[in-house]
Amino acid sequence: MQCKRLRILIRDWFLKVREDALAPARMMEFIQRHIRQCEMCQQDPDLPQEVEKIREFIRAPEIPSQEEVPESKEEEALA
Ligand SMILES: [Zn+2]
Repeated sequence: MQCKRLRILIRDWFLKVREDALAPARMMEFIQRHIRQCEMCQQDPDLPQEVEKIREFIRAPEIPSQEEVPESKEEEALA
């Protein structure tokens, strides 16, 4: 994982998942959303594998929830 921003975000989200403040599926959505917006993440060849390891670790479902996430919710998670 080359992106420092994503590392910080994942640590933050992971703490929330452990506290049951964030669903694992939602955390995966946030990760995917960051990757779509982030040039560094898109150019990181190892990132898909690392994301898959994270998914297994937090036991998120393989198919992400299709539930809509309002933009404001994401901003809260990033704060
Ligand atoms: Zn990134």
